[in-house]
Amino acid sequence: MPDAREIAGYFLLTAIQVAVIALILRPMESLWPVEHWQDRRSTVIDRSYTLIKVFGVLPLFTYAVLAPLGNLLGGGSDDPAGIVSVQGLVPWLGQHSVLLFLVYYAIQDFTYYVIHRLQHAIPWWWALHSLHHSQRQVSCWTNDRDHYLDDLLEALIVAGVAVVIGVSPVEYALIVLSGELLQNLSHANVRLRFGPLLDKFVVDPRYHRLHHMRVDPGRPTLHACNYALVFPLWDIVFGTALYGEAVRPTGVGDPMVDADNRHGIIGQQLYALKRFRASFFSRAGWRPGDVAFNTNYEPVSVRDFDLHALEESQVPLVADAHGLKSTERHNGAGS
Ligand SMILES: [Zn+2]
Ligand SMILES: [Zn+2]
Repeated sequence: MPDAREIAGYFLLTAIQVAVIALILRPMESLWPVEHWQDRRSTVIDRSYTLIKVFGVLPLFTYAVLAPLGNLLGGGSDDPAGIVSVQGLVPWLGQHSVLLFLVYYAIQDFTYYVIHRLQHAIPWWWALHSLHHSQRQVSCWTNDRDHYLDDLLEALIVAGVAVVIGVSPVEYALIVLSGELLQNLSHANVRLRFGPLLDKFVVDPRYHRLHHMRVDPGRPTLHACNYALVFPLWDIVFGTALYGEAVRPTGVGDPMVDADNRHGIIGQQLYALKRFRASFFSRAGWRPGDVAFNTNYEPVSVRDFDLHALEESQVPLVADAHGLKSTERHNGAGS
């Protein structure tokens, strides 16, 4: 059970994270924006996602799920003994704590990369992860805009790997917090590049913004890029890195997913869950590949869609009668 000092420490770290976003990243977005927006109305919901997650969901989840999981697998102390302990496999690393930490970091980041590839490749997982991508105003708050079931799956896998390889709770907290901060930066609407050398080692805002590009009907596979969260190395090794491309509009081409923008957090969670349910219990939901969703929330391979028509059926962010009609027209034809 965490003591009062640990809880206070957690909230201090959380307060630092929110302060960095609000006092550094947010002003940077005003000074050097990549995209010029008339207003920031769509970013407000992402800010709520961030505040709910860091002050509510994460502490609850850590206490209720991660701590028991760690204890169950023999972790939960600062003297870790993983099932496939990295220290056990390479004892030499035990004497080089910085290097050992980097190895842990790389393994955790690679786990995130694999998860992220699957979130895009498997339709039932995309049904959830698409909520993160439906945002058209990607900003410093967007990192935590996720479906809670998606968060749960991801955290269980990543924490499971951490426990198995012997990452201590303190190291785990460091890895997660620094990763979160970097991702707050990489989502920021800021004209910032780390440069042609450093951007091959660490993900920068330009790199992750390309991952959020709306599908280009003329180059329909271009958006399948830049999945890495911290180290672009994984994209480079597996051929999914994209550099040197001009900034593009963000969001999704699928009107059923884009419709997330008309809802509040509860509505977004429910509609993504509908997509998930219709996908998880159908064969098409398990067949890897890009999909869009029909009006019954079922996944349909994008090969069956005219991507140009899909692009044209984008509706205004604020629902109106005309917009709703054009979405229904498209989905009626596509399903
Ligand atoms: Zn993604
Ligand atoms: Zn993102």
